[in-house]
Amino acid sequence: MDTAAGQEVVLKGVAAAPGISLGPAYLYSKLIPRVEEKSITPEEVEGEIGRLRNANARSEKELLKIHAYAEQKLGSQNARIFEAQIMILADAILMGAIETRIARELKNAEFVIADEITKYKQIMLAAHDEYMRERARDVDDVMNRIIRNIQDQKLFSKLEGASIIVSETLAPSDTVIFSRNQVLGYATDLGGVTSHAAILARSLKIPAVVGLRTSTKTVRTGDIVAIDGYAGLIVLNPTEETIQTLERKKRRFMEFEGRLVNIAGLTAETLDHKHIELSANIEFDTEMEFSREQGSAGIGLFRTESQLIGRASYPTEEEQYQAYRRVADGVFPHSVIFRTFDVGGDKISPDTEHEANPFLGWRGIRVLLDRPELFLDQLRAILRASTQKNVRIMFPMVSTIQEIRRAREMVSRAQKELDARALPYDPGIKIGIMIEVPAAAVLAEEMAGEADFLSIGTNDLIQYLMAVDRDNAAVAPLYQQFNPAVLRTIRHIIDAGHKKGVWVGMCGQMAGDPLATVLLVGLGIDELSVIPSVLPEIKKIILSIKYKEAKRVADKSLAMSTEQEIREHLSSIIKNKVPEIPFDE
Ligand code: PEP
Ligand code: MG
Repeated sequence: MDTAAGQEVVLKGVAAAPGISLGPAYLYSKLIPRVEEKSITPEEVEGEIGRLRNANARSEKELLKIHAYAEQKLGSQNARIFEAQIMILADAILMGAIETRIARELKNAEFVIADEITKYKQIMLAAHDEYMRERARDVDDVMNRIIRNIQDQKLFSKLEGASIIVSETLAPSDTVIFSRNQVLGYATDLGGVTSHAAILARSLKIPAVVGLRTSTKTVRTGDIVAIDGYAGLIVLNPTEETIQTLERKKRRFMEFEGRLVNIAGLTAETLDHKHIELSANIEFDTEMEFSREQGSAGIGLFRTESQLIGRASYPTEEEQYQAYRRVADGVFPHSVIFRTFDVGGDKISPDTEHEANPFLGWRGIRVLLDRPELFLDQLRAILRASTQKNVRIMFPMVSTIQEIRRAREMVSRAQKELDARALPYDPGIKIGIMIEVPAAAVLAEEMAGEADFLSIGTNDLIQYLMAVDRDNAAVAPLYQQFNPAVLRTIRHIIDAGHKKGVWVGMCGQMAGDPLATVLLVGLGIDELSVIPSVLPEIKKIILSIKYKEAKRVADKSLAMSTEQEIREHLSSIIKNKVPEIPFDE
C-alpha cells in the first residue's frame, strides 16, 4: 500500500490488550540475515577482523543487557539461556578459528562466521542428546546476532526511544524481552486475543492489537502510528483530528479506571449479598503486588509454564519450590492455585516435538502423565510450598476421568516421597481441574465427583467447542464466547459442579470481559479469575447488580439462538446498570 503521501490508513484487527498510545513504529522482523561470500585483499584482513571483534563486542553488550533484564523480570534461573549465549561469544577457540580463516582464505567476516558456526551447529544437531540439540538453537541465535551487528542492521535490542512494535507475529518470550524497551504497543499480523503473547502484553500493561493481517506490509519503521487496544485497530499517519479523538477516549478510560481505585478494598458481592471470589491470573511473581493493589482475593490461576521461558530444560524441584514458596508467601493470607505445567499447544515447551496439530496434541496433563519424573518434581515443589494451607493444585487439559485419577495418584506418590524426606506439606491440599475440553464439559458431573473444584478455561473450551483456532485471525469471528452453545455448556458445567458440591470458577479471558459478568454471576459462577488490569471493573459490575436480576438475564440469554442477540442483550443490561463503563462501540 502506498502511504508515501502520509495519508491516514486505518487497519482493523482484534483488541488484545487495552490502552491507547501514539508513537513511531518499529518493524520487527525475525528474518535471518543474508550472508554473501565475498573475497577480500590481504590489506583488508585487519579491517575485517576489526569488524568481527566490534560486532562481537556489540553482541556481548546486547546480550548482557537482555540477560540483566530477563534476570530482573523472570528470575536468574530463567535468564540462564542468555548466559550460555554470552559464553559462546567469549569462546576464544571459536573466535580464533574464525579470525585465522579470514586471514588464510581471504573471505569476508560474515561468510566465515556463518560457515564456521554452522559446522558447530550441525555437530550439535546430530547429537542424540536433547540438551545438545537445544544448545544448537542458542548457537544459531548468537550467529545471527553477530552477523546482524557486522551488517549494522537494526535489532530490537537496540531500540532507541519509545516505539510501537509492528511484527508478523510475536512469541511470548519476544513480548517479555521487548518490554525492557519503552514499548508503546504491539501490533501483529497474526495471533488471537488468547495467544500467550497477548496475555503477556496485558500483564505487562502494554496496548496490543493482533490479527491485523497486513500491518507489516503497510507500516515502515519510523512511521507514526496510533494504537487503540480497546477498539482493536491501528492508525497509520493519524490526522490531528484522529489524534485528538483518541486522546479524548484515552482520558475517558483513564478517568474511569482512576475512579475504580477506591473499590480495591471492597469484597466482590452483589447488592443482594451473593459473594463472588474475584481473583487474579498471573504468570510472574512480579505481578503479585499489582494484583493485590487492584484488589484481588488471591490468585485463581498461576500459569507455572512461565518458568520455562528462555530455558532449554525443566527447572528442578528446588528451583520450583523457591518460586512457588515466594508466591504462596506473597499472597498469604489469600490462596494461590498453581496450575501444573501446561506445555504444548501454542505454549512454550522445552522438549515437545513438532506436531501437525499441536492444539490437539501432546499438551498439558497428557505431557505430565507421560513424564512422571517431571510431574513429581513439580508436585513435590508445590506441596512443599503449601505448608500455610493457602495453596491449591490444578490440572490443565483434562479430557478423561482416568487422567484425574492418575494425576491424583501422582499427588499421593509425591506426598509419600516428601514423608520419606520428613518434609512438611498441607495434607488436605485441594486439587482441582480445568474444564477446557468438550469431553470434560460433557462429563462435568463425573469430573466434579473426582475433584475438589472446577475452573472453566474458556480460551481453550471455546476453541475446541467451536472448532476455531484461538490464534487464527482468519476465523476470529467464529471464536464466539457468547455463542449459545458456549453459554449452555457453561451452565451445564456450573450446575454439574454444584450437584456434586464443588465450587466452579472461570479463569479463561471470558471471566474478565465486562460484558460477560452479569451473565456469569446469573449462571451461578462461584469464582472469577481475571487479569489484574480488569479486576476493578469486574468488581464494580458485581457491586452494582442483584443476583436475582442477573439470574433473569442469564435465563433470557440462554433462550436466545445467536451470539449477536445475546451480545446486544448483555450490552443493554450493562449500559443500564453500570452506565459509567466506557464501552467501545
Ligand atoms: C484457558 O484455556 O481458558 C486457560 C485459562 O488456559 P490457557 O489460556 O493458559 O490455555
Ligand atoms: Mg487452556
